[in-house]
Amino acid sequence: MERRILFLGPPGAGKGTQAKRLATALKVPHISTGDMLRRSVVLGTELGRQAEAIMAAGDLIPDDLVVSMVIERLEEEDTRHGYLLDGFPRNEAQAVAFDLGMTDRSIELALLIEVDEVELISRLQGRAAELGRSDDNEQTIARRLEVYKEETEPLLSYYPARGVRVIEVDGVGSIDQIFTRIVLLLEEAI
Ligand code: AMP
Repeated sequence: MERRILFLGPPGAGKGTQAKRLATALKVPHISTGDMLRRSVVLGTELGRQAEAIMAAGDLIPDDLVVSMVIERLEEEDTRHGYLLDGFPRNEAQAVAFDLGMTDRSIELALLIEVDEVELISRLQGRAAELGRSDDNEQTIARRLEVYKEETEPLLSYYPARGVRVIEVDGVGSIDQIFTRIVLLLEEAI
């Protein structure tokens, strides 16, 4: 059975952690545009050079760059039985371009991890102290939340309007608790 799943949710909701676990359980690749872009920055590629300052500011990389990066990745053999997208599409333009580019291999189901804003900010600040991610400073955190609301939240109505279900998961609790919730919800849905 094909599994083409999108993880949605604000920065700090725990998408990356849960997406990695679920990808392992479903035996499909975890495709995180944030991870791919961070790798390009470290490697100093042309894309990385373009992305670095934009990421540090908490803004979005131009749609065409990200869309072609993801579509190229999805041409690889390991995505044959599905994929788990994390951090892409980030806005409606990316979603439309992806749907057009992927035709019959586009997203089947979206999972929304919900966490309220006060909790998100404290988590992101904690992560900044712990990991030293350059886009986890206070100003960038505020900007990333703003970008999420303006650009990404409209996807919560984009997908249902196209017949793609958005399943909501409570993102407060331990990593194990949240993962169990996700698995139960998916079992009901698939
Ligand atoms: P993330 O790890 O998903 O929080 O992404 C970190 C940063 O990478 C974001 O704040 C953006 O600057 C950039 N980024 C990741 N995914 C996308 C995307 N789909 N479109 C544009 N920019 C992205």
